[in-house]
Amino acid sequence: MAARPLFRALIMGPPGSGKGTISERIVKTFGLKHLASGELLRTNIRQETEVGLLAKSFIDEGNLVPDDVITRLILHELKNIDQYNWLLDGFPRTGPQAEELHKVYQLDTVMKLNVPFDTIKERLTSRWIHPGSGRVYNTIFNPPKVAGIDDLTGEHLIQREDDKPETVISRLQAYEDLTQPVLEYYRKQGILLVFSGTETNKIWPHVHNFLNKKLPVLC
Ligand code: AMP
Repeated sequence: MAARPLFRALIMGPPGSGKGTISERIVKTFGLKHLASGELLRTNIRQETEVGLLAKSFIDEGNLVPDDVITRLILHELKNIDQYNWLLDGFPRTGPQAEELHKVYQLDTVMKLNVPFDTIKERLTSRWIHPGSGRVYNTIFNPPKVAGIDDLTGEHLIQREDDKPETVISRLQAYEDLTQPVLEYYRKQGILLVFSGTETNKIWPHVHNFLNKKLPVLC
């Protein structure tokens, strides 16, 4: 019997879309190797590799790492897991990255998580901090007894710059604008699948059913 062809997948979704949780479940259930560009960059930064040092200056400024740098890094890593099914995450993020990847690997499927803007905003802006102690609250999972007030000291809570609604909205908008050409690229190839919903636990069964038709389940 001929060997099953290798499965090449990409997962896309903005911060707060539940992409991390869904990716973890895919990896655990179907045994795909997971390659996340952000994690790979952070590992390189920690290890102070040449790419890491270069990437750090861009990331610290809130910019994307240049296409050629990230593409080289990812293609190098993919070579190491060539013989496995894999799930890419965070790459490609731009049109040129998608085109470069396509020259070497053709994806079987691109799964886009489509979670309403307001739901993501609520998730990402739910973190509040007591600046004096660093105590962290979450207005959805772990709210303070009185909104905006620290339980122990009665002092006011603050939001980190990153967690403020204005910042979150502009980050989400930037993600959508940037990734639009990537989605279009894969839509034209007929391999884009959009999974919509407001709860990760409700989106997951659809992702599971879809992958189940293509891959054997491990557990
Ligand atoms: P992430 O954990 O996916 O949010 O990535 C963290 C940071 O790494 C991003 O804000 C970018 O600066 C950089 N990065 C990750 N993936 C890419 C990519 N495909 N292209 C360019 N920069 C990236």
